[in-house]
Amino acid sequence: MCAACDHTIHRNSIHHGWSRDFAPVLSARPGARIHFECRDASDGQLTRGSTVSDVAGLDFGRINPVTGPVFVEGAQPGDVLKVTIHRFHPSGLGWTANIPGFGILADQFPDPALAVWTYDTTGQVPAAFGPGGRVPLKAMAGTIGVAPAEPGHHSIVPPRRVGGNMDIRDVGEGTVLYLPVEVDGALFSIGDAHAAQGDGEVCGTAIETAMDVELSLDLIKDRPLAAPRFTTAGPVSRHLDAAGYEVTLGIGPDLLTGVRESVARMIDLLADEHGLDPVDAYMLCSVCGDLRISEVVDQPNWVVSFYFPRIVFA
Ligand SMILES: [Zn+2]
Repeated sequence: MCAACDHTIHRNSIHHGWSRDFAPVLSARPGARIHFECRDASDGQLTRGSTVSDVAGLDFGRINPVTGPVFVEGAQPGDVLKVTIHRFHPSGLGWTANIPGFGILADQFPDPALAVWTYDTTGQVPAAFGPGGRVPLKAMAGTIGVAPAEPGHHSIVPPRRVGGNMDIRDVGEGTVLYLPVEVDGALFSIGDAHAAQGDGEVCGTAIETAMDVELSLDLIKDRPLAAPRFTTAGPVSRHLDAAGYEVTLGIGPDLLTGVRESVARMIDLLADEHGLDPVDAYMLCSVCGDLRISEVVDQPNWVVSFYFPRIVFA
C-alpha cells in the first residue's frame, strides 16, 4: 500500500464509539508510520446512486466508523501522543447530507437532502457542486483520537478532551496533533475523512468520503496536556482566499444565536444571488464557509461572522 509505512490497518478493522476495552488491532512502537484505510462516515450507506430516501433511512448504529485502535507501546496516562499526518489518499467519491435533527439550523431544515460528489483525487481541481458552484478541496480527518479513561462505551458523536469527532478543517496534511493519553497504549483510531469542510461544519456534514491516511505516532512522556492542540504546516485557508469573501453577521448577547443568525443570513444571500435552493446553500456553507468570532468584548453584544469564499462562484 505505502512503501514508507511500517504497518497497514485495513478497512475491516473498525469500531463504533470509544472504549478503553476495545482490543487493539495493532501494537506499534513509538515512531511507527502507519497506513490507515478509512471508510466514509456513513459506512458505505451513502454512495454513487444514493438518493434522499437513503438519507432518511440511515442506520445510525453504523455512523462514523473509525479504523483502529492502535496500541502504542509504552504509552501511559499523563503522556502525550504526537500524531503527524503525512498524506491522504482520497477515493474521489463523496457525499454531503442534511440529516434531520442534525446541524446548527436543524429546526429550519427538517427534511433530508443529499448531494453526491465526484472529485479530483489529487485535490488540485475544485469539485463541482450539482446545484452550482465549485468547491476547492482540502483533505482532513474529522474523527481522530484516543480512548477515554472513563469505563464503558462512549458515543462517537461528541468530541472529548482525548479528541474524537472534532471536525477541524485544519487537521490536514502536515498537521501535527497532540492528544492527551488517558489509558495504557493510548488506543488511537481515525476516520470520518472529509475532502472539504468549512470551519463550523454547519449543516452537520462535510464532503464525507472514504480516504486512506498515512500518519506517524510518537510519544512524549510525562507531559500532561489538558486538551488537544495542533500545529499546522502552513497557511490554512489559501485554497479559499484568492477571490475574497462574502461575510454575513450575527450580533447579540449569545454566541450560538449569533452563529445561527450569521449562517441563516448567508443562506439567504446565496439563495438570492445564485438561485440556490436554501437547503443546497446550507450544505454549500457547511463544506466551504467559515464561522469566525469577530468580537467578544463590546458587551453585551458579540459578533459572529460567516465567511463564504467568493472563489466558489468565480
Ligand atoms: Zn464527517
